[in-house]
Amino acid sequence: MNQAPGRLPWKSRPARGEYAFYDGRRIKIGTGEQMYHLRAGRVRLVQPDPGSSVDPGRDAARLLFRFPWPEKDGTEPGGYGSAGFGLTLFECRWRRRCRHDNEGRNLYHQGWAGGVLVPVLVCRECSRRHHPRDLAAAQPLIAELREKAARHDEHGNYQAGTLKHATADRIIAGYLAPGKEASAG
Ligand SMILES: [Zn+2]
Repeated sequence: MNQAPGRLPWKSRPARGEYAFYDGRRIKIGTGEQMYHLRAGRVRLVQPDPGSSVDPGRDAARLLFRFPWPEKDGTEPGGYGSAGFGLTLFECRWRRRCRHDNEGRNLYHQGWAGGVLVPVLVCRECSRRHHPRDLAAAQPLIAELREKAARHDEHGNYQAGTLKHATADRIIAGYLAPGKEASAG
């Protein structure tokens, strides 16, 4: 799964609705290359829709999947109400891809890159996509999530704190044990 430096593996696709079958029902899984109603770890639970241009199993490496938010663990594929559930983060720096370091980036997706599941963030200013290629590059992001968790704990919001830690753990698992994460998430 090698790719040229700086090239994103997720191919832009026509912005049409994509569908699959889950539990005998036809569900919307996303639009274009963004499968925001399906997690990478749940691809094996759905069957491709012959009328759709995307087969999420076959095309997984070229697609972006919904980030596995711990808050939504009980939700079935296709059952997520909103397409845009995301989290704004500020601490990551990707100097070569865009200069809007202070504008923050929205974490929406997870995608396969170089054999691991990476978090994919979108710049709030120019909408460019960014992803830390390895766990070392993801450390600022993880640290920011741990910091958010600590602030929640300080205010007695322990459940919110636990969820932020769990989000950081999901990012780590994507790099260290993507197969494991995939079967659980
Ligand atoms: Zn930007």
